[in-house]
Amino acid sequence: MKDADCLFCKIIDCEVPSEKVFEDAQVYAFKDINPKAKVHVLVVPRDHYRNVDALAQADPALLAHMVEVAQGIADDAYNGSYRLIFNTGEDAGQTVFHVHAHVLTGEPMEE
Ligand code: C5P
Repeated sequence: MKDADCLFCKIIDCEVPSEKVFEDAQVYAFKDINPKAKVHVLVVPRDHYRNVDALAQADPALLAHMVEVAQGIADDAYNGSYRLIFNTGEDAGQTVFHVHAHVLTGEPMEE
């Protein structure tokens, strides 16, 4: 399931460059170009779902796998502590409508 007009589908297909952190058969993870923490990685499923609710309904195991990958990134980059954010909807700040988990780690969070 791909969306030809989707920026993150293009990143996954290497049509748009990104700094890869991790990949497997189900997900692709790369550094956010506008980091909000010392380590800020986006974990993106290869299949296109517009937000976390659509993903949770269609494939909860894939959502669980994204969390597992986020934990692995925080284990490797820091001490296993991390903040996991799914902006959902324009009013919440979602700008790319291909579900992605923001993994913020690498330092203590201020609030
Ligand atoms: O949750 P939201 O949809 O706002 O997150 C999109 C994120 O994608 C932003 O944090 C933005 O910096 C990131 N981005 C990126 N590489 C791009 C375009 C956007 O890392 N080429």
